[in-house]
Amino acid sequence: MTAVADPPATAVEPAVAVDLPGSRTNPLHPADPVDLHLHTYASDGAWSPAELVDHLAEGGFKVVAVCDHDTQRSVLEVTRLAAERGIRVIPGVEMTVGWNKRQLHLLVYGIAPDRTDQAARAFLECTRDIDRMLIEMAEDARRRFEADDKPIPDVHELHGDRPMWPFHVLTAAIKADHVKSLYHSARHLEKLGGQFSAELPIERVVDAAHQAGGICVIAHPGRVDAVGILTEPDLDRLLATVPIDGLEAHYRSYTDRQTEFYRALAANRSLLVSCGSDSHAPRQPVDPRPWRAAWCADLLRRLGFAVTPAPSGVAAWAPGQDPMAALPRTATDVAAEAARAAAEAAKAAAEAAQKAAEIATAAATSMMEAIKRFEESRLRTGGE
Ligand SMILES: [Zn+2]
Ligand SMILES: [Zn+2]
Repeated sequence: MTAVADPPATAVEPAVAVDLPGSRTNPLHPADPVDLHLHTYASDGAWSPAELVDHLAEGGFKVVAVCDHDTQRSVLEVTRLAAERGIRVIPGVEMTVGWNKRQLHLLVYGIAPDRTDQAARAFLECTRDIDRMLIEMAEDARRRFEADDKPIPDVHELHGDRPMWPFHVLTAAIKADHVKSLYHSARHLEKLGGQFSAELPIERVVDAAHQAGGICVIAHPGRVDAVGILTEPDLDRLLATVPIDGLEAHYRSYTDRQTEFYRALAANRSLLVSCGSDSHAPRQPVDPRPWRAAWCADLLRRLGFAVTPAPSGVAAWAPGQDPMAALPRTATDVAAEAARAAAEAAKAAAEAAQKAAEIATAAATSMMEAIKRFEESRLRTGGE
């Protein structure tokens, strides 16, 4: 990442959200494919900038945002490679923030990591601070795994020339067969007293982003896993003290009904709407998705893109327009899911019972051996 220089001695220019050559002279058609939430190997994804750009060019994407967790390390490279293919890149980052004793993921759009002006300073400090916290946590986590007799020699191969983050340590522990999954790896690290996730207060990040002209959007408010759902009362409580700018109302896992709900929440509060797949790698969990520019036109306009307005009377989005929207879960899906969960619980119980039986057998065997040794020693003593 380019270092931020000292503030210029002269008066500071007003913050510019995005400086994308040609963005105003090359308007976006309402149907142009955009994806405003993509990850790379700079955080927990596996897309390299070159692979990602090849994929986006094949898919005809016009505008994308690179939003790695807590770092903008890939932004400049993706921007450079994408420009050669006619794709415009919004500099982004998905910040891990703390609010109301929980975490939220906050997409911050429009702040280039190589900004050196005073207005961007506080925000770039946020990304540097959280990066430093993660690097320290990772080193601590690595030591804890090793002290627990679980060496992870492959960890440096995983992070390559990027800094080692807790994600690499957790993944290396799986590779070394110490744990089965990221979930187990994280739980084990917690048991060892380590941490894998850093956060900054949402107030600090939003304030710093706004100073730099950035736009703050709550990521995946309707996603059950990850950081959990943001309900309507949550949103209003948040807005009472933190001036966020938008919601990710189009997301890979949403049904039309969810999209309708989050678009309405946003519209009723004059918030912007974003569209993102949250793709981390090829088909992981999905490929980048061709959302229509019209669905997030106001956000794109704020970021400097001239989206041709839809004809008057035509809704920006309507249920049924997105052929890739998730289908509502049927009663059969719910039953199948419950059956799967029950089978998993039964398997875990059987494994626990088996383990208990093994422990009991081992205890009985060692007790028998102890008795035998005692009797033998008594016989020996008796024979003397
Ligand atoms: Zn997220
Ligand atoms: Zn994400």
